[in-house]
Amino acid sequence: MTRTVLRYVAHRIRRHPESEAVASARCLHGECQWGAPPSADVGAVDIACMAHTGRHPDHDTFARSFTDVAIVEPV
Ligand SMILES: [Zn+2]
Repeated sequence: MTRTVLRYVAHRIRRHPESEAVASARCLHGECQWGAPPSADVGAVDIACMAHTGRHPDHDTFARSFTDVAIVEPV
């Protein structure tokens, strides 16, 4: 006979204190493979996207991503 003991423990999730959120973007125009370099500064990513549109006016839609490292810990 197998027994399982379940115990409720409250947890929380938060950004890992030794990480920072990183933004990135990639162009969604056709076969374009361009992507903005990942950066902790979303403003720099946005400027890179606008510069890309400046060089290729019909490339005006981007998938932006925001990534961080999270840690789960008991409360
Ligand atoms: Zn593009």
